[in-house]
Amino acid sequence: MSFPLVGIERTKTAVENMIAANRIPHAILIESDYGGGKSTLAEYICRAAVCESGKKPCGECSGCRLQIEGNHPDVLYIAPEKDRKTISVNQIRDIVSDASVLPQKSAKKVFIIDPADAMTVQAQNALLKVLEEPPESVVFILTAVSRNVMLSTILSRCTVFTLNAPEKDAAADYISSVTKKEKTEAVEALNKTRGSIGGAINILKKKSAGKSNDLANSFLEAMQNGSRYDLLKILLPLEKDRAKTIDFYNALEVMIVSRARGCSSPTLSARYDRIYRTITEHKRLLKLNANISLLTSLLAIEMTER
Ligand SMILES: [Zn+2]
Repeated sequence: MSFPLVGIERTKTAVENMIAANRIPHAILIESDYGGGKSTLAEYICRAAVCESGKKPCGECSGCRLQIEGNHPDVLYIAPEKDRKTISVNQIRDIVSDASVLPQKSAKKVFIIDPADAMTVQAQNALLKVLEEPPESVVFILTAVSRNVMLSTILSRCTVFTLNAPEKDAAADYISSVTKKEKTEAVEALNKTRGSIGGAINILKKKSAGKSNDLANSFLEAMQNGSRYDLLKILLPLEKDRAKTIDFYNALEVMIVSRARGCSSPTLSARYDRIYRTITEHKRLLKLNANISLLTSLLAIEMTER
């Protein structure tokens, strides 16, 4: 499988060399801005760790396939539990004891803590214990918007990959090749999304992007002043149309990412962060055939919570 991110050549080389040499460290921290690719890179390294073929990750062996489907028994995801904003010390204690159990299928057992900056200080301290003496077969992959929120003792045990904004020229070339649009249009779309490649592709590719953008815009406006009922009324036309709903979520994600990146208020920032996580979670559930009106109702609730 080819490297999943563009315009970050140095990180690409470092990650590919690390995988080719079969030297995936016990602890990795990936830091990037919102929509900057940290979860994508975490998935890629995880796949390489559980791949059973020679050229890792192949994307085709049973290890890779189970990982892609989200069913690999040796891959565990740790995120805040439902209705919580933080990863608790108990969640970390559970994985610490699980870490000492040998993997079932692959040579490595991978724990993805995404987002690791949601760990409480106690949770980080609990994790530190296992990072100090990691079992041979374990890999921890942590993601964060900034390494500064992690304890220095954790950082000192992690190999850190920082995903800077992609080089604009390479990003524009890539976008223009994927969307078959002119490079100037790609640059324009990148400017609109403050450098988010996924967002720019979304703007250029989707025929219905105009409509979805309008919907997302009125949704965000209503979020500021309106009631939950107003928000639900805006989402009503989506009802049973899954493709339109996904387009709407994509458009909303781009707008939230763009606002979060330009935001200097910590309170507002935390709120955007929460909304961003809800959107990515709902996008995942939509692909798994989750009920659309249930999701949009939950979204309206999340958006109007202060
Ligand atoms: Zn494989």
